This record gives sequence, structure tokens and C-alpha cells, in this order.
Amino acid sequence: MPLKPPKYVDTVRRLIYWQYAQLIANAAGFEGNYGFVISRYKKLESGEMSWSSSIRDYEKELEKGRICIYCGTTDDLSTDHIVPVSRAGVDPRITALLDSSDNCVCACKKCNSSKRNRDIFEWYGPERLDDIPKLALSKFLKLAYRIHEMQGTLDLKDPNMDGVLDIYDLGVVITHLIAKMSEKAQKREAPPPPRRRSTG
Ligand SMILES: [Zn+2]
Repeated sequence: MPLKPPKYVDTVRRLIYWQYAQLIANAAGFEGNYGFVISRYKKLESGEMSWSSSIRDYEKELEKGRICIYCGTTDDLSTDHIVPVSRAGVDPRITALLDSSDNCVCACKKCNSSKRNRDIFEWYGPERLDDIPKLALSKFLKLAYRIHEMQGTLDLKDPNMDGVLDIYDLGVVITHLIAKMSEKAQKREAPPPPRRRSTG
């Protein structure tokens, strides 16, 4: 089970560090060791540990070449965008980032179409967070950090505005979220369609 973060993990930046600290613990063979995760978290936050380079070797080890990262098949492979490109919103820098290889993993067409336009957390769902491939998770965290850095939201406490800070806040692109919300609001406000008059 992913470890529950302490109370002071209360911003996007801190939650990304917390998730990343758990990955570092996995890589070091200390999975689920709370003390180890806390110590790595503190090093990431203080800058004592460079977070993007700290598990590069682990990532290399996880790269298994041309197989589906999600189900392991070698048939019918394609490229999966970890964060869907349709989430990019209107910021061209975020579009470019989501279009880049940093956002890509090898996945079969079946997994790819099952995931559709969801991010990995939404796709796996709350019950199966442990099953998310570590390579996808690692890439996702780095990507999420850069997205939030670009849009200036690293220190927000609840970007998706659902009342809690959790992993579902990490993949949020603000301009996409706002567009989606106003679309919903417009749908609600729209008057009923005019009645058709019978022409008889
Ligand atoms: Zn697959």
C-alpha cells in the first residue's frame, strides 16, 4: 500500500516529493519503510538530494524495451501518453511537454484504448494503485512537477478543487480544468430546447 503522507505534506510540490520518496525507497529495497521514506522526503525538500537524477539508474533498470509497460505483451504495440495530450489546455509549453518522449511509454493498443483520456491514477483506480508500473509512476511524477512548475501551481493545496489534496491533483492542467468546468456550467445553464410545433 502507498504510505499515507504526514499532515505537513500539504501542497502539490510536497506531495510529488512524498510520492517520489516512496519510489526511491522501492529502488533501495525499503518499500513501505516509513522512516526511510520520511528521511528521503526531507532530503528532497531541502534540496540535499537532487530529485530528478536520484533514480535515473532505477528507471533504466525498469526499461524493458519493446513490451507493453502495463500488461507485458509484445503484440500490437503503440505509444501511450502517460498524461493524455488532450489535457494540455491552452499553454503551448505544456502541449509541447505532453507531446515529448518524456510523456511516452510503450504500451499495447488494447491497454492504450482502455486507458483512453485518463491519467494512470484515474485508470488504475484507488484499489489498484500498487499495480501501477514504477517506470510510468516515475515518469508521471517528473512530468507533473514540470507541468505545475510551468503553470505556477506547485504550491497550491488543491488544484482540482475537490476538497482534498491527493494524487488526482498531480496531473491537473489548470487551463484544461477551467475549460472543462465552464463547459459543464454552460451545459447546466442552457435552456431547454424549443418545442417543435406540429405543422398540421
Ligand atoms: Zn498492454
